[in-house]
Amino acid sequence: MVLDQICSLRENKNPLELMDLPDPVPGEKEILVKVRACGVCHTELDEIEGRTPPPHFPVVLGHEVVGIVEETGNMASKLKIGDRVGIAWIYSACGRCKFCLEGNENLCSNFQATGRDANGGYAQYITVLEDFLYPIPDVFTDSEAAPLLCAGAIGYRSLRLTGIKDGRNLGLTGFGASAHLVMKMARHKYPNCKIFVFARSEREREFAKELGAVWAGDTEEESPEKLDCVIDTTPVWKPIVEALKNLECGGRLVINAIRKEEVDKEYLMKLDYPIHLWLEKEIKSVANVTRRDVSEFLKLAAEIPIKPEVQEFPLEEANKALVELKEGRIRGAKVLIIG
Ligand SMILES: [Zn+2]
Ligand SMILES: [Zn+2]
Repeated sequence: MVLDQICSLRENKNPLELMDLPDPVPGEKEILVKVRACGVCHTELDEIEGRTPPPHFPVVLGHEVVGIVEETGNMASKLKIGDRVGIAWIYSACGRCKFCLEGNENLCSNFQATGRDANGGYAQYITVLEDFLYPIPDVFTDSEAAPLLCAGAIGYRSLRLTGIKDGRNLGLTGFGASAHLVMKMARHKYPNCKIFVFARSEREREFAKELGAVWAGDTEEESPEKLDCVIDTTPVWKPIVEALKNLECGGRLVINAIRKEEVDKEYLMKLDYPIHLWLEKEIKSVANVTRRDVSEFLKLAAEIPIKPEVQEFPLEEANKALVELKEGRIRGAKVLIIG
């Protein structure tokens, strides 16, 4: 399923076209993967509508790829034909710059994204460097594993960036799919942490308590205890300002969002230095993922285990899945099945 140009999904409900492309041939250090499942992510909407535009067309989207090794390049020796592997948002990085050398390959200026800078998984075949593949634990079906490769791995990175230690207080502001995942990970990895959730709807707050939050309140409420770190998964600004007031001295707010909306930006004018920032409070954003995040998260997810609810579509119905996602019609993570 191929994207030929940027367009608005409101006007064009069929942005992708079913096409027969030549099968990709693996380079020396590459692997040819026969795709079995590919998750459908919000980022694809950003790519199609031009908020994260692909640099060239036509392009095959998709960065939550699960498949089987079909062929290995001449110099590729790490995988065998028949191995089940995953491919995530990180398609490649230079491996030589200061960021790559320190394990921050997500910040590499030559960071290539799967399904944007290189052809992705809305297809029967994909080629990728052997070092950018991950074994998929047996406990997951193909379609369960696919969504974990994106939201799960990025959630894991945001938890890692908080620098939290067991026994400390963790806040979550926003309680959608990615916050649920973070909550499950945090409870497993740091069993003595107390988790405080801020969410607008009563239903979300009740759900948070069912999942193990010690307290759940509305976005602007004051938590009963100061928080050592907070992860924000909302698309807006108010939760940031409100979370800062609940931070402990030296605490850290991690913003897990690619872009923030402009709608309530004036809320930032409420920032009061002594209340929100003084006493060494920090703010950090999350960008992309590293291979370490993906591998560590897959192991953790298998251990817990974390199994996402999924809704399957045949590859040919990728447009339908994308339009439903755009319109907010969500019954579990959408996954394309390629058979
Ligand atoms: Zn994604
Ligand atoms: Zn680099």
